[in-house]
Amino acid sequence: SAKQANAKYLFYAREMNALVAEKLILENRLRQALDKQEFILHYQPKINLSSDEVCGLEALIRWQTQDGLVPPIKFIPLLEETGMIIEVGLWAIRKAMEDRQAWKEKGLISPPIAVNVSSVQIKDKNFVPAVISVLDSFPDDKAGLELEITETLIMENLDDNIKKFYELKDKGVRISIDDFGTGYSSLSYMSKLPVNALKIDRSFISDMLDNPDDTNIVSTIIMLAHSLNLKVIAEGVETTEQVNLLRLLKCDQFQGYLFSPPVPPLDIETMLKARSTT
Ligand code: C2E
Ligand code: CA
Ligand code: CA
Ligand code: CA
Repeated sequence: SAKQANAKYLFYAREMNALVAEKLILENRLRQALDKQEFILHYQPKINLSSDEVCGLEALIRWQTQDGLVPPIKFIPLLEETGMIIEVGLWAIRKAMEDRQAWKEKGLISPPIAVNVSSVQIKDKNFVPAVISVLDSFPDDKAGLELEITETLIMENLDDNIKKFYELKDKGVRISIDDFGTGYSSLSYMSKLPVNALKIDRSFISDMLDNPDDTNIVSTIIMLAHSLNLKVIAEGVETTEQVNLLRLLKCDQFQGYLFSPPVPPLDIETMLKARSTT
């Protein structure tokens, strides 16, 4: 009946309003999060598959609230939608550089730190100058920063991005292609870009041992990348079997829970101390 339909509509309308309200509350909290210093970086080590040594760190942002640690999937999309990611993303780059400097002052040498960069940030015309200005405030730290960028994002504005990447490269910044294999993979554009490494998406790595198609994809990506002089990093490695297969396929590095999840800076400091005394 019309009455029933109406009641149903009202129910949906109320649900929708609740969702909109929830989003507004979240947005408001996010606007204050930077000032209240609620964002923190965790770091996940990257391991060299031939030496078994930690050869890099990836910075992964978390939001510390009264309700606990909020994972990026819950707030990065809203930061992007509102443009707040531009400021928060730059904060992440500066914080990573500060952590490197703090470790250095304690006599600890940290491997390069990779920071994730969203498409909204790269499209911003102030992105490259802003990154360079952060780097200029750490004049003793020449090759400490890497940026991880997803492949779909690069293709969107290829010519612009080639220019931007070269300006960053001139400043010693290395660039990795993140989540490789999930977008319209085309290695042809790689030769035009000053890219240093490809990161094979976790979905291929987790299915690799059960699915020969995925093994072939992983193996092909590694060979093609090497033919273009790129390093290959496997994401989301959780088992020794995966490590063994990746080593067999000549993959260069891996990241994953098997070695370590992302951890707070203090844990990295402990790891670096242990490393410098052995
Ligand atoms: P991503 O860059 O692909 O990061 C890898 C994600 O996989 C991380 O999730 C990491 O914790 C998780 N991971 C690592 N090893 C394993 C494993 O062995 N098994 C499983 N199941 N997961 C593993 P996280 O930290 O929740 O980050 C999710 C995404 O949020 C990142 O994906 C990245 O796209 C985005 N993100 C994180 N920090 C930042 C940031 O500072 N800026 C921007 N723009 N994006 C960020
Ligand atoms: Ca990443
Ligand atoms: Ca990734
Ligand atoms: Ca991802």
